[in-house]
Amino acid sequence: MDIIDGDKVECSRCDELTSLDDVNVLGKRNNRTYAKPVCDDCLDGIGVPRGYELERDVSYLKQNSNETHS
Ligand SMILES: [Zn+2]
Repeated sequence: MDIIDGDKVECSRCDELTSLDDVNVLGKRNNRTYAKPVCDDCLDGIGVPRGYELERDVSYLKQNSNETHS
């Protein structure tokens, strides 16, 4: 999952740039490294497949892109 500008990800289904505040992440129960970001619209369409779990708040993934290094 690539984070763009510190706080956005591309929906894995429609490629729309979505804020980490709004995006949902589908994960596999038996594979913790698997993470597929999906926007609300796409989530409505696909739901949560069996064996997956949904994380609705991934704002903790935000990176502080304004941080300055002096
Ligand atoms: Zn989407």
